[in-house]
Amino acid sequence: MTSRNDNKNLVCPFCSLHCDDISVTTDNNSYKVNEKNNVCSKKIDSYNLNKKSVTLPKKGAKFITLSDALKGIHDLIKGHNETLIINHGVDLSGVRSMLNFASQRNCIIDHVNSKFLYQNIGVVQRTGYMATSLTETKNRADTIIIFGNKILDKSPRLLDKVIAPKNSLCSKSKKEILLIGDFTEKIVKSMKGRCNVTNIKFDLNMINDLLNATLSSDLKNVKGLSKNSLSKIKRIIGKSKYLVATWTTSDFIKTKNPKKIISSISKFIVNHNKFSRAGCMPISGVLADATSTQALTWMTGFPSRIKHIEETFKHDRNAFNSEILLANKNIDVVIHVSTINAEKLKMNKNVKNIVLGHPNTSFTSMPDIFIPVGIPGIDYEGIMFRTDNVVSVALKDIRNIKLPTTQNILDKLA
Ligand code: SF4
Repeated sequence: MTSRNDNKNLVCPFCSLHCDDISVTTDNNSYKVNEKNNVCSKKIDSYNLNKKSVTLPKKGAKFITLSDALKGIHDLIKGHNETLIINHGVDLSGVRSMLNFASQRNCIIDHVNSKFLYQNIGVVQRTGYMATSLTETKNRADTIIIFGNKILDKSPRLLDKVIAPKNSLCSKSKKEILLIGDFTEKIVKSMKGRCNVTNIKFDLNMINDLLNATLSSDLKNVKGLSKNSLSKIKRIIGKSKYLVATWTTSDFIKTKNPKKIISSISKFIVNHNKFSRAGCMPISGVLADATSTQALTWMTGFPSRIKHIEETFKHDRNAFNSEILLANKNIDVVIHVSTINAEKLKMNKNVKNIVLGHPNTSFTSMPDIFIPVGIPGIDYEGIMFRTDNVVSVALKDIRNIKLPTTQNILDKLA
């Protein structure tokens, strides 16, 4: 039983860095986060139970028993043809059970962020790609280029833990940080002192031109970039001994050609390895995207957008794209699995909606059936993959509100 004022270490499930040094003080089944990064501490704290939390299953607006909820789901699925499971973030055991369940019921599985995955994966499949890890970046990189400004919102401790850490094993001097995009003065200020920061306000659509210009021996004209800035960028890159390029793909989604941007960064990094060391470090989404990709790839050979057909899983990135399937009304039932998502879940009025979600889940409209499930790392132990895929972290539990896990529910339904 969780006791009053118990100090515990939380391994954070709420973004792909999975920090393992978050201290929390538990008081029965609530907890207080002792982390000085306010964004993280508010984020983790928001999963505490509150007056609106739902800890019992519901059918529409009515509370029901778990066995009635399970029966209700059975009936909904039985009478319909096409069932889609959308993963909004769950640990490894949840993904495994999703696969097991899908294989019994011939379901489609997609992750809500797969559109970002496919922007990155195309580069890996079609051209050369060299990646590095968070640890290498922390300890060895002397120059880091950050493309796009959302990355620090998504992974608020990236700066403290990886980009400009207090302690770095190998580099004694301050890192050179190049910010390419529309970064606020607040972010730039927060970095000054810890690293040498150069902020280049720049249109992300022009990244290819910028990177090509750094390889040219003379100072080319790049739209939106002064010759002084280009000269400075070239100087910094030219001096680097270990260069890392980092981005989060959602930053590029509104550009004209995200794949071209990622491909040009990747080519630039591959090319830079002719002169010194360099690597890409994309930061994956906050909804256990890396965990889903890893587990699905081992178990089916495909990273996402799969359907169980004729005793095996088949993959088609267009045919099993959940957004397209729902837009074309090709789905009868959607099972949303959402254990770490703080955003409102979008219910689709044309289908039956089932949600296996954490107790504070909110929706655009009431789902047909809602079963509250535990949060990995808060309510039960589990495994998640870090963004660089080289570390699988063991999540602990810090409270005991006796909710079933996603695995418990899906295994009962299979
Ligand atoms: S940076 Fe991410 S993993 Fe680390 S504490 Fe913040 S939300 Fe959690």
